[in-house]
Amino acid sequence: MTLARPLDETAAIAASPSPAAASATPPHVVVVGAGFAGLEVAQGLREAPVRLTIIDRHNYNLFQPLLYQVATAALSPADVAVPIRSLMRHRNAHVMLDEVVGVDRAARSVSTAAGKRIGYDYLVLAIGSLYDYFGHDDWATLAPAPKTIDDALAIRRRVLLAFEKADAAADEAERDALLTFVLVGAGATGVEMAGALAELARATLARDFRRIDPASARILLVEAGPRVLASFPEKLGAYALRTLQALGVEVATATRIESIDEEGVIAGGKRIAARTVIWCAGVKAGPAAAWLDIEPARHGKVSVEADLTLPGHPEIFVLGDAAAVKGSGGKDLPGLAAVAQQEGRYAARVIAARASGKSERAAFSYRDKGTLATIGRSAAVADLPHAKLTGTVAWLFWGLVHIFFLIGFRNRAAVLLNWLWAWLTYGRGARLITGEEREIGRASPDHTAVNR
Ligand SMILES: Cc1cc2nc3c(=O)[nH]c(=O)nc-3n(C[C@H](O)[C@H](O)[C@H](O)COP(=O)(O)OP(=O)(O)OC[C@H]3O[C@@H](n4cnc5c(N)ncnc54)[C@H](O)[C@@H]3O)c2cc1C
Repeated sequence: MTLARPLDETAAIAASPSPAAASATPPHVVVVGAGFAGLEVAQGLREAPVRLTIIDRHNYNLFQPLLYQVATAALSPADVAVPIRSLMRHRNAHVMLDEVVGVDRAARSVSTAAGKRIGYDYLVLAIGSLYDYFGHDDWATLAPAPKTIDDALAIRRRVLLAFEKADAAADEAERDALLTFVLVGAGATGVEMAGALAELARATLARDFRRIDPASARILLVEAGPRVLASFPEKLGAYALRTLQALGVEVATATRIESIDEEGVIAGGKRIAARTVIWCAGVKAGPAAAWLDIEPARHGKVSVEADLTLPGHPEIFVLGDAAAVKGSGGKDLPGLAAVAQQEGRYAARVIAARASGKSERAAFSYRDKGTLATIGRSAAVADLPHAKLTGTVAWLFWGLVHIFFLIGFRNRAAVLLNWLWAWLTYGRGARLITGEEREIGRASPDHTAVNR
């Protein structure tokens, strides 16, 4: 399809509930972020009478639920990510590798880090979230968080290097500090990361070293709240705690991290010497509220109408982790992939309908199909609408669901094969130390973007 207007020309169509009726030119839909929500929007509009521009600052769509497995050497980056261009081959779609830095609501355009201004008739902001260091942004370099592939690889590098340095250390105290790993936050990411790290140390690396005993590594999971997996029912949290303890993970609940430095952390008033600290605590929305020049809702999110649009702006949709959307109980929907995907599908239907001059659809409503978390080999929890599962059954279910939701046959096959191999041999094939040693977090724009 030849575009009737250059993409970087500010849209000429004035705000209108039905742009298609106002112009013969198909409306231009700009989707910022090709994550869970953005991808669903783009896929849902593949046959729609629209011109589509998808902008992402990475050239890949990332399956974040398995990122901790990249950080702990179980999977390779290409197993959990897919090039966006390979998913956007439909004729009405244009992909841009660029970072959006602002929105001009009046001019209906977005501006990018590369200095472009891109006009839109419909704008979809699906930029996800950032880790929240609760006012201590300087901790990002000391305690990296798994958010992007670069972050996961940097964590992997830090973890594997700690064992190498411990092997070479002459001083016992230094060796102990190198073999101490502190994870901050016992939500699903912290629990999954702690379990995977324990298995890496106790099962895989234990066979690789002679001078040190990797199995003696101290893995400490620190949580400010009263229990692990706070968003799951208590029974499932208790199961996760028992399983972590059986793996040798020390769990300290009701313990606040007071400071982090190069030597370790102060937690609950006690100093812990640890050369590796990993941040798995809360998240906050990306900077959409600042771009739109509105007061943010909780966790920096954008409050939206029942059709997921910005109040007073039926042409601007905010989706996924960036949006505050009320669920049936009146509480904000959680930051989950399924929420983002369902919102993306809904927004695509609304935009397609409006672009065809049809009437609005019903309000968005989320269908909760449950949440899952794995703790380790043959151990997981599943909080389903009609059942609470633990153990091997939950773990098999977790595995099936994740394979199903991965994008692309290659990734599904690669992950399945890696898991099968790991299950049979305790092997983790991605134990590669790559890249320069760098201050993790600083190199990743995800940690700093909100302050721009
Ligand atoms: C480690 C980890 C584990 C998780 N595990 C689970 C799980 O097990 N189950 C579950 O349901 N959920 C899980 N989640 C949460 C889930 O990944 C998110 O809820 C989901 O990704 C939100 O989708 P989204 O589309 O809003 O954002 P994302 O999927 O994060 O996509 C945002 C996209 O926007 C792009 N972007 C951001 N800013 C800009 C910009 N300025 N310009 C251009 N592009 C930009 C990013 O590159 C990214 O591609 C996990 C999250 C993490 C970090």
